[in-house]
Amino acid sequence: MVFLWALRGAVTVNENNRQAILRAACELTQALLAANRLGPEDIVAGFYTSTPDLDAAFPAEGGRLAGLQEVPLLSAQEVAVPGGLARCIRAMLLVDAPRPSGAPVHVYLGEAARLRPDWAGRQAEAEPLEAAVSSRSGERGNRCGRIVPRPNILQIAPYVPGKPIEEVKRELGLTDVIKLASNENPLGPSPRAQAAIRAAAGQVHIYPDGNAFRLRHALAAHLSAQVGDDPAGKGRSLIISAEQVMVGNGSDELIKMLAETFVHPGDRVVFPTPSFSEYEFACRVADGTPVAVPLKDFRVDVEAIAAAARVPRTPLVFIANPNNPTGTLISRPELEWLIDQLPPETILVLDEAYYEFVDDPAYTPGLLWVAEGRPVVVLRTFSKIYGLAGLRVGYGVAPAELVALVQRVREPFNVNSLAQEAALAALEDTDHVARSRQLVREGREELTRELTARGMRVIPSQANFLYFDLGCDGREVFRRLLQEGVIVRTGDIFGNPTFLRVTVGLPEQNRRFLAALDRVLAAVRSKDG
Ligand SMILES: *Cc1c(COP(=O)(O)O)cnc(C)c1O
Repeated sequence: MVFLWALRGAVTVNENNRQAILRAACELTQALLAANRLGPEDIVAGFYTSTPDLDAAFPAEGGRLAGLQEVPLLSAQEVAVPGGLARCIRAMLLVDAPRPSGAPVHVYLGEAARLRPDWAGRQAEAEPLEAAVSSRSGERGNRCGRIVPRPNILQIAPYVPGKPIEEVKRELGLTDVIKLASNENPLGPSPRAQAAIRAAAGQVHIYPDGNAFRLRHALAAHLSAQVGDDPAGKGRSLIISAEQVMVGNGSDELIKMLAETFVHPGDRVVFPTPSFSEYEFACRVADGTPVAVPLKDFRVDVEAIAAAARVPRTPLVFIANPNNPTGTLISRPELEWLIDQLPPETILVLDEAYYEFVDDPAYTPGLLWVAEGRPVVVLRTFSKIYGLAGLRVGYGVAPAELVALVQRVREPFNVNSLAQEAALAALEDTDHVARSRQLVREGREELTRELTARGMRVIPSQANFLYFDLGCDGREVFRRLLQEGVIVRTGDIFGNPTFLRVTVGLPEQNRRFLAALDRVLAAVRSKDG
């Protein structure tokens, strides 16, 4: 025999927006659970209603955020009552657990407290959450059921990495597999970087240089030469100093550090979509509000980005230039216009992970604005052209006062000693960089030509990968390519289910990819036709 009992609660919301509704419903749910010493596993169903003036989100989603992951939750709209409380969310949770010895504690928060003066404030007498957690843990086999994470953490979608070669070999029983899925350098790391790693191996019992002194100074010199080469910088004696350079455990870490430093809870973080998933991830970790601005014909829509950035409380705008997965650029005039449009309290982060592969003269990197002291951060990485993705080292260039702020959230030894030595050697190996660049430019041209000749739409790319429209289901082609031992990326994770993204490989890898694709498409067409 099951006896269910119910908890009631209500909360008011200040604004009709998604963030506010989810947060209020989440807090209400958490408060109901905590005040009654219940965990998510004690709840069998939840009903939420909202007044008609709250239509920006379903409050039941807030119940999910509060940890009600696996029970049916329902949202419904109330019928407006004349003179009723405005912007109000009501909840009823059905409980399958022994009734507490005292009366159940219903929870009325915010202005909703007026609804039930007899019940409001009761939760204040209840045990605080921590006490409830510790007093009940151990009573059941599952000791984690009552742990409540920060709500924003539950909104993070796990990163979808390219499939590792070893996994594909194991799962499909293949011996010869190529990975053209993660934009790595097919030539491998520079031999000089490999030698530097071997030479440093005997010193790994010593902590790395937490300030990465030599690497930051080498980068400053390297970047100053680039600023000097910029036609717009000529004759202006602009340089980049080591105080303007920060290093990270991959540029991924710098993206997260920027959000941790500048995003207050609820602040907006603007980025294009589809683009690199780390921007939304970093925003969520910092409890910010992601604002994804769709591309326009596969290019970053600078006007829409500027409009989104002008809304108050937008401390960060991320743009990958060239963009991933499309490989498209924003040009110098577009970038100049955008930088002029941004409010003074907004930082523009230009992620130039693929900077070295660009040959379009319309392109400009963001260094000049950094050198001028504008609120611009340029991110670069050793993972792509330098072939050091496995070591995790990237860097950021920004005005020194911004760098000093970001340094506060840095782990003391975030870039390991082998990575620092390898990066220094790779930076000096200009031959390896030139060879890699040449290989990618030729391969990119060849693949673009070959795919276009097969009737596919190829987005013009300035990076070391191509994004193209197969005209049929990309997941099926992806699966069949795996059987052929070729790993690529599907476009569905980027919102384009008929697209694939392929990294430019060695000439023989590109040919193998094309031959496999021809076989796969012939098979798909004969099946469909
Ligand atoms: C690959 C990539 C990076 C590099 O990330 P690391 O953490 O440095 O390996 C950064 N941004 C974009 C857009 C990328 O595609």
